[in-house]
Amino acid sequence: MNLEDTIVAVSSPPGSAVRGIIRLSGARAFEIAEGVFAASDGRRLPDCGGGLHLDGTLRIADAGLPASVALFRRPRSYTGQDIVEIHLLGAPGVVGLTMESLLGGGARRAEAGEFTARAYLAGMMDIAQVHGVAAMIAARSDGQLQAAENLLHGALSRAANGAREELADLLSLVEGALDFADEPIEFITPDQLRERLGSVRESLQGAADAGLRAERWGRLPRVVLTGAPNAGKSSLFNRLTGMDRAICTPVAGTTRDVLSAPLQLRHSECLLIDAAGTGEATSDVEARAQDAARRESANADLLIEVYDASRGRPSGRGGLSAASSLCVANKSDLLASGGLAELREWAGNSSSDTICVTSALTGEGCERLRRMIEDGLGDRPMDRNDATIALMAEHREGLQGAIAAVEGAIAIASASGDSLENADLVALELRTAADALGLLVGQDLADDLLGRIFARFCVGK
Ligand code: GDP
Repeated sequence: MNLEDTIVAVSSPPGSAVRGIIRLSGARAFEIAEGVFAASDGRRLPDCGGGLHLDGTLRIADAGLPASVALFRRPRSYTGQDIVEIHLLGAPGVVGLTMESLLGGGARRAEAGEFTARAYLAGMMDIAQVHGVAAMIAARSDGQLQAAENLLHGALSRAANGAREELADLLSLVEGALDFADEPIEFITPDQLRERLGSVRESLQGAADAGLRAERWGRLPRVVLTGAPNAGKSSLFNRLTGMDRAICTPVAGTTRDVLSAPLQLRHSECLLIDAAGTGEATSDVEARAQDAARRESANADLLIEVYDASRGRPSGRGGLSAASSLCVANKSDLLASGGLAELREWAGNSSSDTICVTSALTGEGCERLRRMIEDGLGDRPMDRNDATIALMAEHREGLQGAIAAVEGAIAIASASGDSLENADLVALELRTAADALGLLVGQDLADDLLGRIFARFCVGK
């Protein structure tokens, strides 16, 4: 990875879009961008400072397509180098021609993760924050994004660096005690040491807990379709997910396996699960399928109880069994207009936010159902909580290792009398803890490790 090169990559997603973004980073970024972009006010990019946004046209072809550039001068940029972002039409042809022209002008295609690698090497972020960028790219819900942002913005780095400073301070005191073992000087008492190490332990445990919370809330919420056989659960599953996986037949009890597929909502995603219908099982296979369905329902974040509206209304409160459930009156297309109006009125009058009239056949009501699912899941703490950090396995291990060493030191301090005994062992534990934390936020990682981390990125990031 040669840092002297000026690199270029498309940073918008592949395919057609309204807008595309091409990013350049390196010493010649402004000069090379000037080759494809003409500012409306006639300014030349190499003469411009950073923090500017200019409108203009592309120099490629003769059409003079509109474009704009955002300019960042080093060191105040993502990579710490000069950066130009070209915002242009997202048509693959236009983006492709512009890229060719930039490559012809002397830029080199960026490798996967090279922008973030440059940011790291320029000291713009530590390795924990680099992982935060990777987690942001991979995030599939607002909750995951929040946890990744917290990692990127240094939640783990702050905890680890704070603990490292305190450990270094304590280490100097403990080593002082070792160096002057024969003198009657008290550097730190066992009580003081225990108390200060207790705070370190607490703050590291706080970061580890935030990671656990993120993990728990980071999984996709589970939305389970339940209801009597033949109510139309499999048909709704297919309609909502746009797949044709669930077999729908007029024979009751056809759904034997638990089927699941991701369902994209407006701001998030959930896992939609189609389980066997409830009711009397007529065979062993069916009984087992219903057991599996009951387990899914018990684990659900949201239950959707589906019933066949052409067979009359369900009894009770719309058949709803739990607070976190929605009721769907399906097969509305089978009702005569009078019956449908009556059903809608009933649905509107009962707790209107939890009853939806649909037809899996025509698609009626399915968009509303999607919104209701999102609203129904919206109250989960996941989307609002910011006490989460998207920790990776190595972060968890590093934190656990540090916590164990700190606890080891606390145990030795607790076993000491009035003055610290076994100071050499305490020093060893403190150093072990500091080293484990140093790896999490370190600036001096081995090259092959760095290579592996950045290979997880996509080009353009
Ligand atoms: P499940 O047992 O609850 O999964 O029900 P299925 O999805 O297998 O549907 C049972 C039968 O009802 C099938 O013949 C479907 O084609 C039919 N069906 C499902 N939804 C609708 C609907 O909205 N309108 C009509 N007219 N038929 C439906």
